[in-house]
Amino acid sequence: MTGRMQDSPLTVGTLLPAMEKWLSRKTVTTWRPTVDDPAATTVATFAQTAARARLLGAALDHLGIPLGGRVASFAWNHQEHLELFLGVPASGRVLHTVNHRLFSDQLEFILDDAGDEAVFVDGSLLPAVWSVLARSPRIRHIIVIRPDPGQRLPQDPRILTYEALLDAQTRPHPLDHADELATASLCYTSGTTGRPKGVAYSHRSVVLHALLLLAADSFGIRESDVVLPVVPMFHVNAWGLPYACLMTGAGLSLPGESPRPAGLALQMEHDRVTMAAAVPTVWRGLLAELRPRDQSALRLAVCGGGALSDDLATAYEALGVTLRGAWGMTETSPLVTVARPVDADAGQTPEARRATLSAAGRPIPLVDVRTLTESGEPAQWEADVAGELQVRGPTIIDTYLGATDSALTPDGWFGTGDVATIDGTGLVRIVDRTKDLIKSGGEWISSVQLENALMAHPAVSEAAVTGKSDERWGERPVAWVVPQDGSTIDPEALREHLRTMVAAWWVPEDIRFLDEIPKTGTGKWAKTTLRDLT
Ligand code: ADP
Repeated sequence: MTGRMQDSPLTVGTLLPAMEKWLSRKTVTTWRPTVDDPAATTVATFAQTAARARLLGAALDHLGIPLGGRVASFAWNHQEHLELFLGVPASGRVLHTVNHRLFSDQLEFILDDAGDEAVFVDGSLLPAVWSVLARSPRIRHIIVIRPDPGQRLPQDPRILTYEALLDAQTRPHPLDHADELATASLCYTSGTTGRPKGVAYSHRSVVLHALLLLAADSFGIRESDVVLPVVPMFHVNAWGLPYACLMTGAGLSLPGESPRPAGLALQMEHDRVTMAAAVPTVWRGLLAELRPRDQSALRLAVCGGGALSDDLATAYEALGVTLRGAWGMTETSPLVTVARPVDADAGQTPEARRATLSAAGRPIPLVDVRTLTESGEPAQWEADVAGELQVRGPTIIDTYLGATDSALTPDGWFGTGDVATIDGTGLVRIVDRTKDLIKSGGEWISSVQLENALMAHPAVSEAAVTGKSDERWGERPVAWVVPQDGSTIDPEALREHLRTMVAAWWVPEDIRFLDEIPKTGTGKWAKTTLRDLT
């Protein structure tokens, strides 16, 4: 047949024309509170954002970053990070967003594994990550974003400032990178083995995922929205929200540095935020702060990255805000399911409706979900049969960065390590987790790495780590420790030892001593037995 449609590549650069034309006056607000003015912001239009992204693209040419070259960011949710979200991929490079809270060994590993050549870092984060950057010879440029006026930058020829770099550019980049299968961005996940693994999002998957966030039955993001991504931009592209907003013209209200509950509540009222997305710990912390504030503009409050508990959903309901669950993971871009009622839910009791809204949710378009029974057969669509949740679709991982083998089952599905039920209406409920990870405040703690750190203490013979549910953080680690023969261990000394090996927020408050760690038939730690002891 001769007739055919245009096969325009689905690339990040395709967001720019609308931003520069009919959406040009829409705005991005970044909160930059000061002691004198807790509501201080900077505002840029979409047109200005696009123009600065084009200068950034030119700057990457100027710095000699090759096509496909990796550019890391250590940054909060703000205007400049948004410019990186556009200018880096649309000029043909890869944006590697880094969680600055990771321990220095992990940071060193992922910077090296990703092969980062340039790093963009917030002035406020530079002191914390400087030792890692200083030790990474592969990094040729360190670009500091908004250093404090009085901040003394390290003496290092690789250092420049972001504004000086943009100011020096005279010819905007066309931002016309056209390979939709090329990698646009990179995010590391914690492996169960403790080694983080890189997930490489293609332009195509980023664009499709953003489009899916506009679907009425997912988040339904639209031009009239003002969206507050509390979820960090270093974590799975802030769930793709920035791209969805830029695509459709929704205003963005970015929380800036170290957002705190009081500031977020003020921001939501002040900017008349209509949609906000955060992990359960954040919603819990926000509750008291939101109570006295006007949230009448808020139409959608999404709680993802961890289970939404009934008490939290009920507390929000009392506030007149419906919190909805959503499920996803780094390997899935992340959104796969969103909790929403469907026709089949008509006539539900208020309790059943709340349970529906706080479940993982129902699949968004283009993705497929299934569970496997213990015998490895796909389960029938029944509410009470639990099995490993598997997913597939154009926004789901195939292969980890640098891996030779696909991460999929022989028949093309990605196993999530979550145990779920799926009912006949597609409602997914997460009931358990098979992976050995603990999720605290929306971020992972690797039990394996924590166990290794514990066992590195000379007086520890064996150690196992499990998670226990925690009202504030979702989960916290519990350490089970067997001392060497005859020794006694001071828990505080053990914590002190851990602080030299892992991030401070990994250190367990709860350390318990045992004579022996219970084992399974194959000699592994019997973690279910340990969990039952907590
Ligand atoms: P994200 O935090 O963006 O969801 P991660 O890859 O860090 O991505 O974590 C994904 C994991 O978080 C899931 O595999 C699951 O264990 C847990 N999780 C995410 N959403 C939910 C949810 N709604 N209910 C229960 N667990 C969830």
